[in-house]
Amino acid sequence: MNRSIEIFEEAQKVIPGGVNSPVRAFKSVGMSPIFVQRAKGSKVFDVDGNVYVDYIGSWGPLILGHASDIVSEGIMAFINNGTSYGLPTEIEVDIAKLISEAYPSMEMVRMVNSGTEATMSALRVARGYTNRNKILKFEGCYHGHSDSLLVKSGSGTLTYGIPTSAGVPQKVVEDTLVSEFNNIEKLEEVFNNNKGEIAAVIVEPVPGNMGVIAPKVEFLEALRRITKEEGTLLIFDEVITGFRMAYGGAQEVYNIEPDMTCLGKIIGGGLPVGAYGGKKEIMEMIAPLGNVYQAGTLSGNPIAVKMGYNTLTYLKENKEIYQQLEDKAIVLEKAFQENIKAVGINATVNRVKSMLTVFFSDGIVDSYEKASQSDTTLYGKYFKGMLEEGILLPPAQFEGMFLSTAHSDDDLEKTILANKKVLENIIR
Ligand SMILES: *Cc1c(COP(=O)(O)O)cnc(C)c1O
Repeated sequence: MNRSIEIFEEAQKVIPGGVNSPVRAFKSVGMSPIFVQRAKGSKVFDVDGNVYVDYIGSWGPLILGHASDIVSEGIMAFINNGTSYGLPTEIEVDIAKLISEAYPSMEMVRMVNSGTEATMSALRVARGYTNRNKILKFEGCYHGHSDSLLVKSGSGTLTYGIPTSAGVPQKVVEDTLVSEFNNIEKLEEVFNNNKGEIAAVIVEPVPGNMGVIAPKVEFLEALRRITKEEGTLLIFDEVITGFRMAYGGAQEVYNIEPDMTCLGKIIGGGLPVGAYGGKKEIMEMIAPLGNVYQAGTLSGNPIAVKMGYNTLTYLKENKEIYQQLEDKAIVLEKAFQENIKAVGINATVNRVKSMLTVFFSDGIVDSYEKASQSDTTLYGKYFKGMLEEGILLPPAQFEGMFLSTAHSDDDLEKTILANKKVLENIIR
């Protein structure tokens, strides 16, 4: 019997859905998950002895591939010295300096344990700083699972939010406004209807959680202009894009300076880390300096921060990898597009830098609405077919594929051949 299936049966008895994060259950691709035994470089090995070329990359963090020696360098010495003290350590200062230098908009930085904590805390600070309660987010953007951010819009984007999850009181999301990503007109409307009331706008500058969507540069610029005019803080959620799009993230690429930034994923080198930061004046609101409370028993954990520090140091000293990663993603993008055309299937490839999504959808996908029109059943078939060919894609349509420095030309070649074969099979 298949070992993954066996373990999944046991898992479901003691863990809700058998997994510790919902997408891992492979539910949206209609199968049961593979359980991992180990991984190295671009490859994941499952408990049944199958090997896959992996494009999940732990959902973004592993820009240097799995089990990278660069990331774990010197880590045993750290572990042997003790794993947590509840007291400050120098490595926390070192990583804060690195982050602040790479993101000049982050004059001060707080380390936390996840992206969720980073966004949740940034919003609290923004509300404390502006003395306003309302926040604005965009449909299809994901900012972790804290209550006030688990909101999608109703039919009208100007209405108050409706919780996406049970257990989130209506009262908690009453102050969460939702608008359409890439839509400047709607953005202006929201501000006109909520004059002087919006504390912060939080946005994924390049959405990666409705599949990869390219922002319109004018939209990001409008966001910066309007928030400045209205005394609203602009928060870039760069949990995915930070140190991924470029060393300086999306804010460097689009040359836009947000008031606050949230980071996660890559900055932990595969361990649980998040960070948020911004202008000094704003960050000085946080306890013990100010009266906005935020804390964490394991925040800035030395082992996790060391892995992140190693990753960032390598990226800083080897910035040429960003062009190389993009070149690899372009190879896939072009080949996928050719295959789609040759096979004659309705699909679109979205790519921004080293992230890409194949949408099973007609025409350009540049909004949440268009993304949500894709054929997720077809994506499920595609995912399964690719898995059988030894290619591990994200097990959901609305996610991105991530390239790492470990992906070889052979990996790409194999992926392209599999893509053609599987596309042919699924339209039959
Ligand atoms: C992953 C992600 C988060 C949440 O981070 P966790 O570490 O999973 O809590 C927040 N924002 C964005 C843009 C993300 O991609």
